[in-house]
Amino acid sequence: MIDLHAHTTASDGSLPLEELVIMAARGGLRALAVTDHDNVQSARRINGREPLEVIPGIELSVFDHALGYEDVHVIGLFIDPKHETLNSKLDSLGREEQKKATVAKLNELGYEITYDEVKAKSQGVVGRPHIAMVLMEKYPSEFPKMADVFNKLLGRGQPACIGRESGFGLGEAIALIHAAGGLAILCHPFIYPYDADALASKFKGLGGDGIEVYYDYAANRPSVPTTPEENARLMGRAKELAGRFGLLESGGSDFHGQGKRGYQELGIFGAPDEVLAALKAARGKPL
Ligand SMILES: [Zn+2]
Ligand SMILES: [Zn+2]
Repeated sequence: MIDLHAHTTASDGSLPLEELVIMAARGGLRALAVTDHDNVQSARRINGREPLEVIPGIELSVFDHALGYEDVHVIGLFIDPKHETLNSKLDSLGREEQKKATVAKLNELGYEITYDEVKAKSQGVVGRPHIAMVLMEKYPSEFPKMADVFNKLLGRGQPACIGRESGFGLGEAIALIHAAGGLAILCHPFIYPYDADALASKFKGLGGDGIEVYYDYAANRPSVPTTPEENARLMGRAKELAGRFGLLESGGSDFHGQGKRGYQELGIFGAPDEVLAALKAARGKPL
């Protein structure tokens, strides 16, 4: 088994790279991709001496106002994490500004939290879950669960949902991943409020390489109850989209660590080994 989607403390995971790698080896994985949100801090520390194949990756958040896609995720696999353009683009993303604006909006709505409190919750890049953690701590009766914060305040269409000013366009994300030597993979195609067929078609049209077929919606999206049968059907649909649009298959656990949503261990859910072989074969061809 391989796992091509996992997070470390550099974004919203709870394990640093070293511990993630140890857990992956212990879980019997043949390969692991490190795909933190909008940063390559952990990917840059992969040294090739790990006890299993560790692939440098990234999960970019796309905010494409022209196409109407908000917060669509695109993974870059096999990127060069030291690539200069990639790093300078990431530095200028404005993620921090967006989180500060969200905190300001929450203050306006009467919630007394500060950006420093939010930052203290994160060991790397500040994300919306860190804002939610502070709200859960300060207003436990109003927000017993993280999902409550998202449903009431931070989720799409809610009063404290602030769009990112300077997100990547879909085509821009794909081009940036290609420039850094990677393959662009459309992540978890069925979690968005968009038609997955149209999204996959657009993604392919803009040069995208693959799509996540192996993904556990039930584990990663507890706010939407998903039966094992429904999950199997969604994976089947993704496989069908891959075939129809000539996209490579990818997938993984979207592991965030212990105490986080989804899997608590690596090596329980992943993609078959053939998936990696096919991705590598495609990588050898000119893009
Ligand atoms: Zn994602
Ligand atoms: Zn992820």
